[in-house]
Amino acid sequence: MPRAFITGITGQDGQHLAEFLHSKGYEVFGMVKGQNNPKLTAMRDEFPYVEPVPGDLADLPSLLKALESTQPDEVYNLGAISFVALSFNQAELTANITGLGVLRMLEAVRMVGGATNNPIRFYQASSSEMFGKVREIPQTERTPFHPRSPYGCAKVFGHDITVNYRESYGLYACSGILFNHEGPRRGLEFVTRKVTNAVARIKLGLQDELVLGNLDFKRDWGYAGDYVKAMWLMLQQDEPDDYVVATGETHSGEELVRLAFEEAGIEDWQRYVRQDQKFFRPAEVDLLIGDPTKAQEKLGWQREVDFPSLVKMMVANDLRIESARR
Ligand code: GDP
Repeated sequence: MPRAFITGITGQDGQHLAEFLHSKGYEVFGMVKGQNNPKLTAMRDEFPYVEPVPGDLADLPSLLKALESTQPDEVYNLGAISFVALSFNQAELTANITGLGVLRMLEAVRMVGGATNNPIRFYQASSSEMFGKVREIPQTERTPFHPRSPYGCAKVFGHDITVNYRESYGLYACSGILFNHEGPRRGLEFVTRKVTNAVARIKLGLQDELVLGNLDFKRDWGYAGDYVKAMWLMLQQDEPDDYVVATGETHSGEELVRLAFEEAGIEDWQRYVRQDQKFFRPAEVDLLIGDPTKAQEKLGWQREVDFPSLVKMMVANDLRIESARR
């Protein structure tokens, strides 16, 4: 039975990846930080097959211990301070966890190593936020970075140090540059889920407005369930490499809002939407659109869920949750 160790197990991608690896016959270990972590109880209920392992990306000895005790074949580093808006307020924490955390995890992988004929394979969750103020359209594995937030800056460090450990120590280390990926498990702080949840609540009469920040942005949004397959595929190749994972399409904030309201049968969406400065960011990423050609050709990866289907899935999920709550 292959063994996988995942950081960020309680997050959206951790959950999708655990489910996917379990279906592939993996033994799945999930790193959980802190004492009496409430997310651990929820995880035990929903994913009884995931074995929780204590550890913290801020604490190298804990990472060494976690890898020594679990002896994984594959390590997926999905743990991070992952919300761009929060990273402006907690920039040092973001640099420490989202940036330096990668270095600590790589160091643990290098030191524990794994069997000589089966060294540990490492996946780093890099991000399209590294492209920020984009230098070319669409963005590829060769597009220079220009991050626009402490989160983006920390992810650039994580990406570069992953490449550096691969080149310096011959680690099987891959960096997946994933564009925004969403789904019913997305946290309510991200714009897609905030919108679909508010639409459901407005439809059910539980809320009467949706307050947003800047809507003049474009994102390449895919479905998280499709994207975790690309992570796994990267670790099954003969050679480690970096890949852009994206849909190749971009959609505006306004399109997202309109489609979500339409999905709930509400045509006059402008009536419900208000903008507030407090949701605007000090610097913005205006346009992201990735070119997934390399992932498609080398990994044989394809997205299955398109943008309208994603919005439909998320609105339906929030209508179900909010109706049950009523
Ligand atoms: P990001 O691409 O990782 O920053 O993902 P988000 O879902 O947090 O934000 C996507 C875009 O939505 C950004 O350009 C935000 O400025 C914009 N946006 C506008 N209003 C909101 C809001 O109320 N919440 C969030 N999270 N983003 C918003």
